[in-house]
Amino acid sequence: QPDMHLSLRLIPYSDELWLLVARDVSKLMRLEQMRRDFVANVSHELRTPLTVVHGYLDMLDPAEQPDWAPMLTEMQRQSQRMTQLVEDLLTLSRLEAQEQLPEETVSMSSMLATLKREADALSQQRHEISVEDAAGVDLMGSTKELHSAFSNLVSNAIRYTPAGGKIRIRFLPERDGGVSLAVEDTGYGIPAAHLPRITERFYRVSTSRSRESGGTGLGLSIVKHVLNLHQARLEIESEVGRGSRFACRFGRERVRARDHFLFDDER
Ligand code: ADP
Repeated sequence: QPDMHLSLRLIPYSDELWLLVARDVSKLMRLEQMRRDFVANVSHELRTPLTVVHGYLDMLDPAEQPDWAPMLTEMQRQSQRMTQLVEDLLTLSRLEAQEQLPEETVSMSSMLATLKREADALSQQRHEISVEDAAGVDLMGSTKELHSAFSNLVSNAIRYTPAGGKIRIRFLPERDGGVSLAVEDTGYGIPAAHLPRITERFYRVSTSRSRESGGTGLGLSIVKHVLNLHQARLEIESEVGRGSRFACRFGRERVRARDHFLFDDER
């Protein structure tokens, strides 16, 4: 049947014999698809009313409404959070529906410059931020999705690092010919017990800290999805009280030599 999905397992039985076990998982796949569609539809339907509410709320200046100021500020903050949540859910749905991404050359020098700019804006000079471009190459993949993965890591590093801390964004060559984009911070760190589940949707180490910092709990699952679509891995090292390192590891097949533009006096 065309829409039938089988899960196959080959089990050793004796020296010469193997058992092939086929399980019909069509129903499970259909349910999973329904769950995805449902989340995608709800997020999509929420988007328009939220944009209207958020837009009008943002036009009001708390400073001009002394009686209302604290409530107005809180309403603006919460509507911002809800908007981010819906955007993140839509991003995840889009990623789940995609089997293949556009294969374009991702200019890593502009990517790093963009990340630095965004980090500076988020940090508001509360952190020392540095960028290192030791790999000096470009990546093949989707600029849009890779940007969303990297900027999630950068925004986490800033949100989970107290003022005065250091954030390093490093694009490094690896021994096997691949490269990695690493985001290192000197922040709170993550207890080892939480690491295996940290990329699950809505999984948080500390709900209150994540809420306070404006998190949706979806950032790392977006990162994981984007990397999977690029056959890349996420490596996490972390120590409580010292900081964390999130590295996106790309194989050599994703690496391209950077275009070298000749300036007039080089010709
Ligand atoms: P959130 O929106 O809550 O930040 P994420 O999926 O991005 O969601 O991250 C999941 C959880 O992982 C966070 O709630 C936080 O507890 C932890 N985390 C992520 N990045 C860092 C980091 N750089 N330092 C410490 N904890 C982190």
